[in-house]
Amino acid sequence: MKSAIVIGGGIGGLSAGWRLAREGVAVRILEAREVPGGVIRTVGRDGFHFDTGASETMLKSRRMEDLFGEMGLSMRLQEADPRAAKRYIVRRGVPEALPTNPFNAPFCKVLSASGKISILREWSRPRGTAEDETVSSFALRRFGSDVLDYAFNPLVSGVYGGDPDTLSMRHAFPVFWGMERRYGSLIKGAFGLARERRKAGEAPYKKRLVSFEGGMTAVPRILASQMEKELVCGARVTSVEKPDALWRVTWEKAGERFMEEAEGLVIAVPAYELPRLALPEAIAEKLSVLSTLPYSPVTTVCIGCAREAVAHPLDGFGVLVPRRETRGVIGILFLSSMFAGRAPDGYVAMLAFVGGMACPQQAALPEMDVKALVKAEMGRLLGLRGVPVFESVQRWPKAIPHFPVGWQKALDAVAQVEQETPGLVVTGNYLGSPATGETLLRANDAALRLLATGRAG
Ligand SMILES: Cc1cc2nc3c(=O)[nH]c(=O)nc-3n(C[C@H](O)[C@H](O)[C@H](O)COP(=O)(O)OP(=O)(O)OC[C@H]3O[C@@H](n4cnc5c(N)ncnc54)[C@H](O)[C@@H]3O)c2cc1C
Repeated sequence: MKSAIVIGGGIGGLSAGWRLAREGVAVRILEAREVPGGVIRTVGRDGFHFDTGASETMLKSRRMEDLFGEMGLSMRLQEADPRAAKRYIVRRGVPEALPTNPFNAPFCKVLSASGKISILREWSRPRGTAEDETVSSFALRRFGSDVLDYAFNPLVSGVYGGDPDTLSMRHAFPVFWGMERRYGSLIKGAFGLARERRKAGEAPYKKRLVSFEGGMTAVPRILASQMEKELVCGARVTSVEKPDALWRVTWEKAGERFMEEAEGLVIAVPAYELPRLALPEAIAEKLSVLSTLPYSPVTTVCIGCAREAVAHPLDGFGVLVPRRETRGVIGILFLSSMFAGRAPDGYVAMLAFVGGMACPQQAALPEMDVKALVKAEMGRLLGLRGVPVFESVQRWPKAIPHFPVGWQKALDAVAQVEQETPGLVVTGNYLGSPATGETLLRANDAALRLLATGRAG
């Protein structure tokens, strides 16, 4: 393949474009906004520095780490402070620490006595048989209501801004889902996987929570700096045609229309943007299932204040607020405890998440009200006093994909379209885990698939 066009300059599109350029393909990356990076954004002043979308990611595998290295991201990598291993969940209005090792578990106040007993009994519960089910249904079946309310519910809020009553367990948490399917239980699965690794002589990869000097925007910045010629910002794609062997892509920039043709096409826009690309009818019809995907609405509020204005030690990753306990704030990250350089000396930086599927109306509150809500909740949960020195609000009306039960049919549709249409690949955070590292890896793999179809052709 000699040429390709990538639609979307979020980290997915940048990663795919980077791989194609590296393999010698003449690439054009078209990004609608004036800056690349999509939902990865940063605000800051006076020594404060906040990522208002993704603020960290988990390095989960050797392959992901190698890709970061190849992309030139490792040089700016920041490992999270070891304190970030500690996480809090609110119970009866108080942030309670989750145990950092199994020996502390009996003393943990996050779960009730019956919740802890239900975890010990999980191995004896029968294996599920459904093709897919909601997180609530899975958690109730395997653990009961206390573990659903105080473990699964905050996990779902923290990762997806989600609602366990409608989120698919199979697609949101495929590892847990697979462990039950394969071993009959999560506890048996944890032991089974460890046993298999030992047998195979495989050392487990030590996962690491990371960000970058200057924050997560380092990822799009570093990738874009290697593709100055290829990347066009402010370019909104308005139609895609396939009149012959080549893709013909039309876009608008500063009121003008442009058109370009290429052998390969990478679609890397959010699922809800697909209908606006005016794809060829047969493809649009098959992919129409993607645009039905709900996204959780989340508003993030950055708060910077003097260290002594917060009573809580902020000794951890942050605090998650289960639905039963929330008044609109679903979680608060202790950014300056996790990564150096997020607040000036003597100050702290925190990021609150408001709304989600649990309380969408709070995500839409006017700016003054959402700030007041967050400060009141930080007062109640963390002992925040006085007026913060930094406050800023970022709205994400469609923040994170919220996989419904049966989402497999959408993944099958994408696979079918790719199979029937050599020279086309689709990538995005809605085709698997939405985490930054996985989105980068998935897009890199999409580019490799495109190259493979090009070679086959
Ligand atoms: C509030 C929030 C918090 C998050 N927290 C974390 C976290 O802590 N850790 C983590 O790992 N992940 C986190 N994520 C998830 C992660 O950031 C995203 O899943 C990932 O960045 C998505 O990348 P993407 O390229 O697939 O999509 P996007 O970032 O949505 O990029 C798509 C791009 O396509 C462009 N586009 C759309 N239509 C067109 C068009 N017609 N023509 C041209 N361009 C177009 C858009 O402008 C956009 O730039 C978070 C996400 C959000 C919103």
